[in-house]
Amino acid sequence: SEKEYSLIIIGSGAAGLSAAAAAAETGLKDILVIEKAPFIGGHTALSGGSVNAVDPEMQLRQGIKDSPELWEQQILETGAYRNDPALVRTLVSNAYPTFQWLSGLGIPFQEEVFEAWSGKHKRAHSAGSKRNGMLYLRTLNRHARDLGVQMLLNTKAERLIFEDGRVQGISVIDKNKRQRLIRAKAVLIATGGFTGNISMRMRYDQRLDGNIRSTADPNGTGYDSASGDGILMAETIGAKTVDMDAIQLIPLQGGRLLDYVGGDIFLDSSGKRFVDESAEVRFVSEAFLNLPDRVMWVVTDAQSTKNSGLEAKLLTGVVDTAGSIQELADKMGVDRAVLKYTIDRYNKFAEQGRDEDFGKTTFTQKIEKPPFYFGKERFDAHFSCGGLKINPSAQVLDQADRPIKNLYAAGEVTGGIHGADRLGGDSLISCFVFGRIAGLKIAEELNRR
Ligand code: ADP
Repeated sequence: SEKEYSLIIIGSGAAGLSAAAAAAETGLKDILVIEKAPFIGGHTALSGGSVNAVDPEMQLRQGIKDSPELWEQQILETGAYRNDPALVRTLVSNAYPTFQWLSGLGIPFQEEVFEAWSGKHKRAHSAGSKRNGMLYLRTLNRHARDLGVQMLLNTKAERLIFEDGRVQGISVIDKNKRQRLIRAKAVLIATGGFTGNISMRMRYDQRLDGNIRSTADPNGTGYDSASGDGILMAETIGAKTVDMDAIQLIPLQGGRLLDYVGGDIFLDSSGKRFVDESAEVRFVSEAFLNLPDRVMWVVTDAQSTKNSGLEAKLLTGVVDTAGSIQELADKMGVDRAVLKYTIDRYNKFAEQGRDEDFGKTTFTQKIEKPPFYFGKERFDAHFSCGGLKINPSAQVLDQADRPIKNLYAAGEVTGGIHGADRLGGDSLISCFVFGRIAGLKIAEELNRR
C-alpha cells in the first residue's frame, strides 16, 4: 500500500513553507509539500516583503511608540470590526516571536523600521531589496528541506479525502497528469487567495469581472494562481467561510502619481470629481468600482510631491503632462468648461480647507501651476481578506464552528484576521504567524499519538 505521510501541506507560499519548517523543527517526519506550479512561492513571490511587528528593540531605537494593543486596535478599525478578535490577538502577540524566528533562520532584516503603504504606523520590517517575498521563500524552503521535508512540484490537489468524519489525505493530479491518492494524518491548506478566480470573486462581488486584474497573476499568464482551490475543496466537506466579499483592491500598478497625501484630484470620464481623494483606499476603490465606465483620472500639478515611479511612467506614457487646463481637457477628452469648473471649485475648497462635495479634509495644495500631470488609474484585486474560518490553532471550522478533524489552514486562504480590509504590512506576517502555529500544533498533536 502507499506510504502515509504525517502531514501534507498544500501550497508552497509563505504560509505553507512556514508550517513545513516549524513542524519539521519539532522532529516530525514524513512531511510533504505539494505545489501545483512548476516553482514555489505563489503570491508571496511577488510580495514587497514588509512585515509588521511590535518590536521593543528597533522601534525604540527610532523613538517610535507602539504596543500590541495599538496595533490590535488599528487592525480592528481597518477591518470595520468584522475581524475575529481571538485571531487578531493571536497575530499581534505572535508577530514578534515569529519575526525573531525568521531572523534566526538568516533573514537579514534591516535596522530601519518604516510604515508600510497604508500601514498606518511605523512597525514594518523588511530585508531591504525590492522583492523580498522571494528571499523569505528561499530561506524557509532551504531550511525545510534540510530538515527532511519533501516537496512535489507540478502536483495539484483536487480533493480532500474525508472519511469517517475526518480528513485522511488528498487526491492529486501528479506531474504526469495522473490521479493519485496520498494519505496523511493531517492536511494543511495553504493555497493562497482567490483574487485570480473571476467567477468565484464575482459570486461575492458582481463588479469584480474580467476587466479587473489580479496582482497574484500580473501578466495574466500564470498557473491559475490565487484560484481559490483550497476554499472550494474545504467547502465541499462542510468548512465555513467568512468575509468572502472583502476583496481588497489596490491602485499600485496603475498611473498613481502620489501617495494620497492630498495633492492629487481624482476625476471621472466627464472630468468631475467623485470621491474624497484622501479617504482610505477601500473607499476610493469602492467609488471607482461604482463608476459606470470605470475610468478614473489622477490629476495634479507642478507643485505636488511626485512618487518615485514618475519618470518611468512619463516615459511609458502611463502619465502625461499638459501646459494648461485647456490642453489638459483636450488630452483627457473631456469638456473644457466642465474641467475648469471642477478645478476652480476644488481650488476654492483647498483654500477654505473644506470640501463641500465629498468631505475631503487633507489639502496640501491647489491644482494651479503648470505643467499639469495626469494619468489613468487602474485598480487590481490584490488580497482576499476573507476565506476559510479558522480558530487560533489554525484548525478549519465547520458550519457549527467545530474543528474539522485533521484539517488546518493558514495564510491568504483563511478569513477572520483582517475583517473588511487589512493594514499594509499585515498579510505576510499573518502567513508566517499562522503557518508556524499550524505546523507546531499539528506536530504537537501527532507527536502525542
Ligand atoms: P500564502 O501567501 O497564503 O502562503 P501564496 O499565494 O503565497 O499563499 O501560496 C499559495 C501556493 O499554493 C501557490 O504557490 C499556489 O500555486 C499553490 N496552490 C494553490 N492551489 C493549489 C492546489 N490545488 N494544489 C497545489 N498547490 C496549490
